[in-house]
Amino acid sequence: MEDCIFCKIINREIPSHVVYEDEDVLAFLDITQVTKGHTLLIPKKHVSDIFEYDQNLAATLFSRIPKIAKAIESSDNLIKGMNIVNNNREVAYQTVFHSHVHLIPRYDKKDDFSMRFGNHMEDYSAAELATLARSIQAHIK
Ligand code: 5GP
Ligand code: ZN
Repeated sequence: MEDCIFCKIINREIPSHVVYEDEDVLAFLDITQVTKGHTLLIPKKHVSDIFEYDQNLAATLFSRIPKIAKAIESSDNLIKGMNIVNNNREVAYQTVFHSHVHLIPRYDKKDDFSMRFGNHMEDYSAAELATLARSIQAHIK
């Protein structure tokens, strides 16, 4: 897609440090290196976010995650863990609208990455959760 920075990376119109490539996906170092080895995995087909995937594209992209994660982990024995993050749309902190998965190796709980999960358990009764689950279930296609 024209004017998409990640399509330009795929087409080598913009340089990047490639970690892995096959006919369907590309993995390259994120320019900001939140932690050392921070890598982005993208489908070569331009889709904006998870809501544009079909099952085949998801299988193609997400099936590559373990081997790239293992390669990053093997590349540095200081790596103790990894966050795998996929932001979808602006409200969820997406800034580049060609879908991508972040692989962020973790060296220490105090390294420069954080993610906070609030706890709203007290806000819902069991009946409300049952209704909520049913309403999501009803939309599964
Ligand atoms: P998002 O916020 O959309 O989940 O993540 C977009 C990511 O793309 C950011 O972490 C940002 O550093 C990375 N990024 C943006 N522009 C470029 C670029 O030109 N090259 C590379 N390698 N990464 C980029
Ligand atoms: Zn694109």
